[in-house]
Amino acid sequence: MPQLGQGILKGMGITLKHLFDKKITRQYPEYKRDLGERSRGMLTVDMDRCIACLQCMRICPDHCISIEQTKRDADGSGKAKPYAVGFVIDDSRCMYCSLCVEVCPVNCIYHTEEFEAQAYNRLELARQFGERPVDPTIDPRPAVKKKKPAEKAAAGKGAKAAADGYGAPKKAPKRAPKKDTAA
Ligand code: SF4
Ligand code: SF4
Repeated sequence: MPQLGQGILKGMGITLKHLFDKKITRQYPEYKRDLGERSRGMLTVDMDRCIACLQCMRICPDHCISIEQTKRDADGSGKAKPYAVGFVIDDSRCMYCSLCVEVCPVNCIYHTEEFEAQAYNRLELARQFGERPVDPTIDPRPAVKKKKPAEKAAAGKGAKAAADGYGAPKKAPKRAPKKDTAA
């Protein structure tokens, strides 16, 4: 039969034991733990290197990135090239998949060690880069040309035929010439 107060004594014993243990708790947020080398924090973009190719915007599965593109002679070469006047990354939708980082041809979009994405309003999580703010509520994906249903079906049929090895167009079968039986 359990003795009265045994549970309390046991609990106090555990408390005393841990009272003099080496502390492993860090006083977050004053002290932050070191992140792993390959950890993925919030994204940032180096606008000086961005060539406004829109690849990050197009590949993002969550439609987090919107870019306002124009043409400008930014490098003084005398030739107008694509230029990102506005660039927004919406952290409220980002799932840190890193596809945008992998696809960037000049490595100008990358993860930082920052991970505290918090705000009272979701729109505050849309971080603006560039000289002109971009509306993060507008879906950027219409910039990607969509195929019409008929084109899609034709493309699907063509791909299937090619996969089956029947992609070559069929020729009309040759007919044997009719014999002249009148004479
Ligand atoms: S990490 Fe993934 S979800 Fe986030 S912006 Fe890049 S592609 Fe989109
Ligand atoms: S993929 Fe890179 S270079 Fe292209 S628009 Fe995005 S950040 Fe800029």
